[in-house]
Amino acid sequence: MIDIQKLEKQDFGEIIFKPYMKDYTTYKVGGMAEAMVFPKSVESLIGLLTYLKKEKIRYKVVGNGSNLIFSDSGFDGVIIKLDEFTHLNISGNQITVGAGYNLMRLSIKLSRSGYRNLEFASGIPGTLGGAIYMNAGAYQSDMGYIVKSAKLLTPDLEIKTFFNHDLNFHYRTSFLKEHEGYICLEATLELPFGDAKESMELIAERKKRRVESQPLSYPSAGSVFRNPKDIPAWKLVELAGFKGRKIGGAQVSEKHANFIINVDGATAADIRKLIDEIKESVKEKYNVLLKEEQEFVK
Ligand SMILES: Cc1cc2nc3c(=O)[nH]c(=O)nc-3n(C[C@H](O)[C@H](O)[C@H](O)COP(=O)(O)OP(=O)(O)OC[C@H]3O[C@@H](n4cnc5c(N)ncnc54)[C@H](O)[C@@H]3O)c2cc1C
Repeated sequence: MIDIQKLEKQDFGEIIFKPYMKDYTTYKVGGMAEAMVFPKSVESLIGLLTYLKKEKIRYKVVGNGSNLIFSDSGFDGVIIKLDEFTHLNISGNQITVGAGYNLMRLSIKLSRSGYRNLEFASGIPGTLGGAIYMNAGAYQSDMGYIVKSAKLLTPDLEIKTFFNHDLNFHYRTSFLKEHEGYICLEATLELPFGDAKESMELIAERKKRRVESQPLSYPSAGSVFRNPKDIPAWKLVELAGFKGRKIGGAQVSEKHANFIINVDGATAADIRKLIDEIKESVKEKYNVLLKEEQEFVK
């Protein structure tokens, strides 16, 4: 149990007690956490982590919660949100930005200012930190193509600069995902100059495509499964007969079979069950083991 008064006294930043994770995730599922803290600065974050480690309190960093499924029974620890880490410094081709910065907003802001190569991110509803962790991407591009370096807080609470090759970006994974306990504080992107009008047209065209092909009016966390090497995940889900399948309030989208949508007050358990059934059926019918892109948090 967390001593709420003790935590409050430390003044690490704003605290919300007993937040429901369904209010902080794009799937709109998940029970209560003990507390959510918004550190004011890197020093506050280090202070908070020192405190949590000493008191042996669990914690989880959450960006925009657009790739997470929190359990219905909640999280018995502290959620750390880096919403205050939104500084943005532009110097020629180098853009240094805080981990809490909204990726869609950044993409549109920089594209409109005449920078190229961040157009792919205009439909990804995460934060910069979450996008680096996941190596978020689309249209044959991802964060690995544009991140020059990132400042990480190590599990020993030291601040270290990691360059692109250290970050080990691969399809929907990175050093951060592979090494527990590291926190991204900020990153420097390197973007070439381009033509603002062209970039904005590309963004508009892709937005149109997304709206046409993805169920964006329902809560979801984007693609459920990683794409196997030879066949897209949506095709396997569709072939296995799951398009439109519903468990409780969760449904495999009719529009895009690699999306599960929360159509009617879904629980995390509904989503878990649907995912497990799909995996079992696809394995049995096609001998392919689908892997989740989304992360379950207990
Ligand atoms: C409608 C929709 C469309 C989507 N389209 C795409 C797409 O085209 N391409 C794509 O790749 N993804 C897509 N996604 C998935 C999601 O937006 C991305 O995975 C995104 O990068 C997650 O960022 P986040 O800030 O929401 O991270 P969260 O979901 O909050 O967290 C994800 C993981 O990152 C960790 N994390 C977050 N911030 C930090 C940090 N600062 N330091 C260390 N670890 C951190 C968390 O602990 C967690 O393990 C989509 C999602 C939705 C809802």
